[in-house]
Amino acid sequence: MKANQTKQAIVIGGSMAGLLTARVLSDYFERVTIVERDPVQDQPEARKGQPQTRHLHGLLANGLQIFSYYFPDLPAALAELDIFMGDMGETMRWYTHGGYRMNFHSGLDGVTLSRPQLEFMIRQRVLARPNVTLRDNCAIKQLLTTPDKEQVIGVMVEQRGTVTEQVRLMADFTVDCSGRGSRTPQWLKELGYDAPPESEVKVDVGYATRLYKRDPDDPRGRQWVLVTPDVVNDNCFGGAFAIENGRWIVTMGGWGGNHCPTDEAGFLEFARNLPAPDVYNIISQSEPISEIMTHKFPSSLRRHYEKLSHFPAGYLVLGDTIASFNPTYGQGMTSAAMQVRVLDQILAASPSLNKVAPAFFKKAAKVVDIPWQMVVGEDFRFATTSGVKPPGTDLINRYTAKVNRASHDDEVVGAAFLQVMNLLAPPPSLFKPRVLWRVLRYKEERETAVAAPATRQPIRQN
Ligand SMILES: Cc1cc2nc3c(=O)[nH]c(=O)nc-3n(C[C@H](O)[C@H](O)[C@H](O)COP(=O)(O)OP(=O)(O)OC[C@H]3O[C@@H](n4cnc5c(N)ncnc54)[C@H](O)[C@@H]3O)c2cc1C
Repeated sequence: MKANQTKQAIVIGGSMAGLLTARVLSDYFERVTIVERDPVQDQPEARKGQPQTRHLHGLLANGLQIFSYYFPDLPAALAELDIFMGDMGETMRWYTHGGYRMNFHSGLDGVTLSRPQLEFMIRQRVLARPNVTLRDNCAIKQLLTTPDKEQVIGVMVEQRGTVTEQVRLMADFTVDCSGRGSRTPQWLKELGYDAPPESEVKVDVGYATRLYKRDPDDPRGRQWVLVTPDVVNDNCFGGAFAIENGRWIVTMGGWGGNHCPTDEAGFLEFARNLPAPDVYNIISQSEPISEIMTHKFPSSLRRHYEKLSHFPAGYLVLGDTIASFNPTYGQGMTSAAMQVRVLDQILAASPSLNKVAPAFFKKAAKVVDIPWQMVVGEDFRFATTSGVKPPGTDLINRYTAKVNRASHDDEVVGAAFLQVMNLLAPPPSLFKPRVLWRVLRYKEERETAVAAPATRQPIRQN
């Protein structure tokens, strides 16, 4: 417990960003109340308000490190449930850009479990803190402010149940973690503020996911299997992760409307047509235990709160509410965790709650810049992507395609790539001389290799 703990905080939304935010606020506030619109059961579940959690979720190494910082018993608890954790470099089976990435010891831990299970474990730990409570089945309808509208002093809540009633909850500090559908832009306008400017890049990505029975002795359960596109004309992906309770979660999809069919035969055929056979091999040999579930993701969307000159005191937004990225790169939870670290550092240093928002938005924008640039840049490899293309994207993409190809055989390049992908190093680190010359040199080796018998052709069985 830290000093000046005299106040009440409210977190809007009890998904991953909301839970992590509540964890941090519990160090600074006397009471923290998470207000969640859905009914929440004491079990792993994918709720109506976060349907994406039915789909494959990877937690990047940086995310796992931050989660473990706030919940030090998490790695042991994961191990106890026999949830697979391993060195990412050693355990990946990742086909991309025409070959499998080389395996090597990366020093980065990865974990594969279902998103509902991860959230359940985090929720248990957050709610075990004596000053945190969850009010579920409660939707925030409106912000309450001082008469001059300069400060948020609470929220109007619609408490649902046998009788629906409106309740006023007062708070010194309120954080909106209600995700992409956040109503903060409208609420700000209603209060006479500007809504944040938005950046949007349309990708038309579709996900289709199915669960399968997994043999606990299947060695593929000690890997994380990914197949991602090779070239501009190849716009589909697939992934299979071993998750808790002896299951596989398999997700496939594509960009620009190339969505995986949801009928039995079409699902299998989509897997067969992926550029490598690993996902197909798993699903064609495993018993399905769920229906095929879908999710459409129209665009990456960023709200530039850092550009607002006027914002109410005692209020903040965090997580997907600020930026919701094309999920195929697996960055959302880690971005939220990194924003939460920033909030923690600002609260630790700030003498006044009034100064939190401007400082936070400035730093959170820097956190978001990196995954945003990576995702948006990569998505512009596809001709179907539309929106504002950052300058230099085509050139960078040509280089990163080479980075990807070089990672088939070059450990140094592969390690640099994994650091960036896991949001542990900024993308310019891929241009450091040690990496750059290996990437540029790779072309010659590649040409030689192509002239030789094709050793990297995907094989159709394991
Ligand atoms: C298909 C898909 C796959 C993804 N895969 C990955 C992945 O592999 N790795 C990764 O890191 N991230 C992934 N993400 C992103 C990840 O799910 C989010 O970044 C993460 O859930 C954090 O989001 P959040 O908590 O900000 O918002 P959300 O998860 O959207 O949660 C918002 C919460 O607020 C509640 N709420 C909404 N309105 C109100 C209201 N008015 N009052 C009270 N409560 C309210 C909702 O019920 C919900 O619980 C994926 C996303 C999608 C769409």
